[in-house]
Amino acid sequence: LALPPRPALCCCRKALPGAGQPSEAGGGGGPERLSRPDVDVASASNFRSFRLLHFHLDLRLDFGLKEMSGWQVLELVPLEAGAHTLVLDTHPSVLVHAVDCAVPGARGSPGRSVSLTFRVEPFSEFGSSLSISLPQGALRPRRPFRVTVRYTTTDGPAIWWLDAELTCGQTRPLVFTQGHSVCNRSFFPCFDTPAVKSTYSATVRVPEGVTVLMSASHSAYSEDDDAFHFSMKFPVPAYLVALVAGDLQPADIGPRSRVWAEPCILTGAVSKLGDSVEHWLGLAETLFGPYFWGRYDIVFLPPSFPIVAMENPCLTFIISSILESQEFLLIDVIHEIAHGWFGNAVTNASWEEMWLSEGLATYAQRRITTEAYGEAFTCLETGFRLDALHRQLRLLGDNHPVSKLQVKFEPGVNPSSLMNLFTYEKGYCFVSYLSQLCGDTKRFDSFLRAYIEQFRFRSVVAQDLLGFFLSFFPHLKETCVAQREGLEFERWLNDCGPPLYEPDLSAGAVLTKPVQRLCELWGDDTPDLEAIAAFDLSSWSTFQTVLFLDRLLDSTPLPQEAMTQLSRCYSSLLDGMNAEVQIRWLQIVVRNGFYPDLPRVRSFLHKHTSRMYTVPLYEDLCSGVMKCFAVEVFCQTQGRLHPNLRRTLQQILFQSGAASNGTPAGMLPSPAPSPTEQVPSGPVSLRDVNVSA
Ligand SMILES: [Zn+2]
Repeated sequence: LALPPRPALCCCRKALPGAGQPSEAGGGGGPERLSRPDVDVASASNFRSFRLLHFHLDLRLDFGLKEMSGWQVLELVPLEAGAHTLVLDTHPSVLVHAVDCAVPGARGSPGRSVSLTFRVEPFSEFGSSLSISLPQGALRPRRPFRVTVRYTTTDGPAIWWLDAELTCGQTRPLVFTQGHSVCNRSFFPCFDTPAVKSTYSATVRVPEGVTVLMSASHSAYSEDDDAFHFSMKFPVPAYLVALVAGDLQPADIGPRSRVWAEPCILTGAVSKLGDSVEHWLGLAETLFGPYFWGRYDIVFLPPSFPIVAMENPCLTFIISSILESQEFLLIDVIHEIAHGWFGNAVTNASWEEMWLSEGLATYAQRRITTEAYGEAFTCLETGFRLDALHRQLRLLGDNHPVSKLQVKFEPGVNPSSLMNLFTYEKGYCFVSYLSQLCGDTKRFDSFLRAYIEQFRFRSVVAQDLLGFFLSFFPHLKETCVAQREGLEFERWLNDCGPPLYEPDLSAGAVLTKPVQRLCELWGDDTPDLEAIAAFDLSSWSTFQTVLFLDRLLDSTPLPQEAMTQLSRCYSSLLDGMNAEVQIRWLQIVVRNGFYPDLPRVRSFLHKHTSRMYTVPLYEDLCSGVMKCFAVEVFCQTQGRLHPNLRRTLQQILFQSGAASNGTPAGMLPSPAPSPTEQVPSGPVSLRDVNVSA
């Protein structure tokens, strides 16, 4: 992120063709393309009435007040005559002070600035609308104008202020933002829909000693004005704008990659990644074409980061807690790299089709791991994730609407609450199905390269992908009488239940066979302990151990005698392994009410303060008979938890059935029931549904 400094706001920026706009022509789709969604039920904005060319943020961060204040300049073009009102998404945590508008005069004359009236109105649980009355008669279709919004924002859903005690180094406070899916309307007023993309720039002022990073292609610190300057020269949707500020230090790990972290974890982070990142980027480029974004940097965030990782362009955000679990770190970083093509370069136009980003990114991630680590490794990783998908299906039943690839949102439903394993794994299976339809993995790679080339920097719907697929493989179109229906695309998109096709994972047998055999031995009425002792878990990979423990968890409840023997064989061994392994064993302990290992649960919860390692255990503790123990541990540790996590855990502890799946109850609409409300709270753990973005 130390690229040459550049002017804060570029005045000669050109919108890239089609960026952020409907691709009426040259969309590459087949003749049956569906119409593009005209509305986004999760956005209050009138984004279809304007083209957003660029926006600039000028913000000052105050860690004492936990406030960002300043202004935002939007460069807009009206797309129709008589555009009287500009409606932006915003949030009750944003206080708008003033809005004004600069309308250019005729033939390049400076024009005039006028103050505008505005009103903020409730929209949903996750935002409000900011309606700005535009100057009557001054705007012309296709002539750019600028709107400046002066505002202050505090601690809305996008902005996570961490007191020094919540950071890894515990010396300085830190703040980060997390925009996915619809949170960034609390960071800056915007067209908060993935259908709209624009370039952006920012100027950020912070107290001395604080480093600011953003998801931008250029960044620099200027001593002249004591400010950090950022610019993203490629169009991105609002949710991919991200900022982090704190005691962050850099270390180069490749020609275009740098790790950022608090000083106390930097060396460890660098040694875990080594020079792998450049290797993975190179493999991804071989498969899917050039990496457009220039930099690929990674910032490690404290355990309060609410998800595992986020694909913010040029700067992946990832939780530092994952550092100890090497294979998960590897998969998560490769997944975020894959988003550089799938999700960030080509984006789902609506949150109802999130699988277009996640399913394709998961497929691409597995193509990269196949090239880097072989088919067996990839099949093992795929296997335990598909196991999790089927676990979800068993819990939800085959007719649950969240198992559809194309979800239909009711107004008021927060799109984040419907992000689940189906988005990733059923989406992955559909992409694998397309790959096997074309009959050759390498040819499918070349299709994906062409897809990126065709749609890059644009937002697409499923029909863009499928139409382009059929035009790329015309023989499929010709041989299939009923086209989409014949290829079952409609069933894939709209049916509930399991994937219609799953890839052949037999290449993983060399790694999964021993796991399978050990599970069978433990499944016997009187387990053969001598045969069991022949399996040395310390020589297994993390994913093998995880697969074994997941399958044990699926067999729960286990006989108390088996639990005693399992504990004797594995408890201390697993205790020395990484957190991804440990939490699975501890979930087995809790769900089986196995008291002798409860001290290990306590020390785990004293050590780990992240959402991903606390919520599943607390949910299990509270759905069983160990609620008093959970309350006790919570009281001992709550001072070290982020207030948002504390609230989630309080809901789990003190309101039975609430806050399952990491979804704060307040995020769900009332009274309209949403599909996630029907998710049973007990056995569906966070890790089953809420995976890395
Ligand atoms: Zn993802």
